Amino acid sequence: MAERRVIAHIDLDAFFVSAELKRHPQLKGKPVIVAHNGPRSIVTTASYEARKFGIHSAMAAQTAARLCQEAIFLTPDGAYYREISDQVFQLVREMTKQVEKVSVDEAYLDISAIEAPIKSMRKLVADIQQSLEMDASVGIGPNKLVAKVCSDAEKPKGFVILSAEGARIRFASESPKLLPGIGPKTAERLEKIGVHTIKELQEYSVSKLQEKWGKKQGLYLWQRAMFIDDTLVSEERIVKSKSVERTYPEDLDDQEELEESLREMSEELSKALKKSDQQAKTIGLKIRDAQFKTVTRDYSLLAPSNSSKLISSVAIRLLRQYASPDPLPALRLLGIKASKISDTKDVREESNANAHVKEKLRPQLQLFTD
Ligand SMILES: [Mg+2]
Repeated sequence: MAERRVIAHIDLDAFFVSAELKRHPQLKGKPVIVAHNGPRSIVTTASYEARKFGIHSAMAAQTAARLCQEAIFLTPDGAYYREISDQVFQLVREMTKQVEKVSVDEAYLDISAIEAPIKSMRKLVADIQQSLEMDASVGIGPNKLVAKVCSDAEKPKGFVILSAEGARIRFASESPKLLPGIGPKTAERLEKIGVHTIKELQEYSVSKLQEKWGKKQGLYLWQRAMFIDDTLVSEERIVKSKSVERTYPEDLDDQEELEESLREMSEELSKALKKSDQQAKTIGLKIRDAQFKTVTRDYSLLAPSNSSKLISSVAIRLLRQYASPDPLPALRLLGIKASKISDTKDVREESNANAHVKEKLRPQLQLFTD
């Protein structure tokens, strides 16, 4: 590909908190933390005012409460955040259809074909700010890697444009951990061979990296440091599964309570599927016991569904089978996953073509709603 590529990465700033501030404007300027209740919960998002106290996402909520006693805690509201996210993506897609959505508040855009790409990105940020009161940070570069690292570099309200060469220089003294694809474990191994910075990784011998990490991964690590990346912005990242889970404040062995919890989760999952007009063919149950042992069990439906009744009856049945004939041990976590997801529209077309599937579905529904 000889043509010049221009890739942008857009990432909303403190998304959950900003969404909350839209409906609770009186909390603006205050240390706000979005986290579930309970002794084991973690911070999902902290406002920039809260971050000044050293609070960050994935920190234990209890630690956060200790660090900042005047912090205001709010419970996450996934359905509401998805609504705001949809509005943001509507604006994004007005600008280009070449969008790869990474999460509710993050996307890559291929803006190579747009006439004034940088001006257009500035306009997009301004539009999001004006119509939704949300701030976003943007990174622009010749590939996804440069774009992503740039959008993180000057948060909040960052707008950073760099070439690969520019990125190599600007981030030279940073830890390789800064690069997506290089996690803390790899960074630790790199330190052991004397590589502490991105620059040191750039200058390291590729063949020596390959000796340690294998041919493919060794080259990959070096290319990351060089900001070389030729992966494409894939327009629709197909979400193949959706899941919900609960970690209980205390280990739970009460069958009734556990089943009630599964019913609640099924309701949530069903809502999420219906909202995006999707159905799942496979329902999975995740079980983690008090000793942290995790098992998963899957069940394939005869035809895709998003009914909360059906999901909960499958999940409950899988839970009952898990320990049977013994009583349930104390559990730390339960989760339900819907996978092999398809759009309801496609399912409808498919099931019209296979009318007998509907018939098959009927006895199964009875089986599970007893
Ligand atoms: Mg974000």
